[in-house]
Amino acid sequence: MPKRYVGIDLGGTNLKLGLVGADGRVLMSHSSPTEAAGGPQHVLDRMAKATVELCEKAGLGVSDIAAIGVGSPGPVDTKRGVVVFAPNMTGWRNIPVSGVLKKKLRRPVRLENDANIAAYGEFRCGAARNVRDMFLLTLGTGIGGGIVLDGRLFRGVSDTGAELGHVIVQNGGRVCGCGNRGCLEAYASATGVVARFRAESARLGGKAEFTCEDIFVAADGGNQIAARIVEETAEYLGIGITSLLHVLNPSMVVLTGGMMGAGKPFLDHIRRVVKERAFEGASAACEICWSTLGGDAGIIGAALAAEALDRTGKPA
Ligand SMILES: [Zn+2]
Repeated sequence: MPKRYVGIDLGGTNLKLGLVGADGRVLMSHSSPTEAAGGPQHVLDRMAKATVELCEKAGLGVSDIAAIGVGSPGPVDTKRGVVVFAPNMTGWRNIPVSGVLKKKLRRPVRLENDANIAAYGEFRCGAARNVRDMFLLTLGTGIGGGIVLDGRLFRGVSDTGAELGHVIVQNGGRVCGCGNRGCLEAYASATGVVARFRAESARLGGKAEFTCEDIFVAADGGNQIAARIVEETAEYLGIGITSLLHVLNPSMVVLTGGMMGAGKPFLDHIRRVVKERAFEGASAACEICWSTLGGDAGIIGAALAAEALDRTGKPA
């Protein structure tokens, strides 16, 4: 029987699982609420139970799974398989995810940061499948980053590399969720976009409650403040990407997350900013594109990180 892997994408809101082949094909998937308010033990129980149920649905036992990969938010210690801290999840400090799941499921478990595995998924079988050097930005509530260099995930010496959302784009700028000022995340995440709009107007189309998506829609509909905020968002992203191009000189930059809905004009604006600002050699060699795996990048990347370790004995 061909080898099968389970990829788990642990989010503050949803717990997604995929049964994935060694080629990255999703054979079956399942999503349920994380119920993070129940605390780490409750969530770990749910992860184990959902893994068993997913296997059963596919007519398999957990023992038929070669290995399990988990992508978690926040800093993780990949060597020890520990989630150091997960923002937005009650009580998640120094949680030994790999150890607990190994004990419950009796399979090898590989833990990685969620944005890193999204990058790895795109690298193995998504938008970046034909390149060796790439980075990814997840444009969501925050901005996550993942880097693949020469075909390997780059984690840094203590697993805190690739925090690309915290590249500083404005000296003394807006306060970021990390406590610093002027981070890319403080400007170009969904939260940042809403906060920048709010600084100029308390209401959008008469409503006091609105989302980042509403701002993009209003920009398309001719709202001038919204249009400017969206333009500046593309500029901040372009500036951040330019700095990263000068460090990494990658062949591809993959953008993913909720902002993908903004479509080609927004992407083209980012491309223009990078073209104007980056060294020609760096920008000419680099394609900036949307993700092709979208919301499945997490489960696919997690499964393939487990697959890489299973196949080579070395981390992805
Ligand atoms: Zn920050």
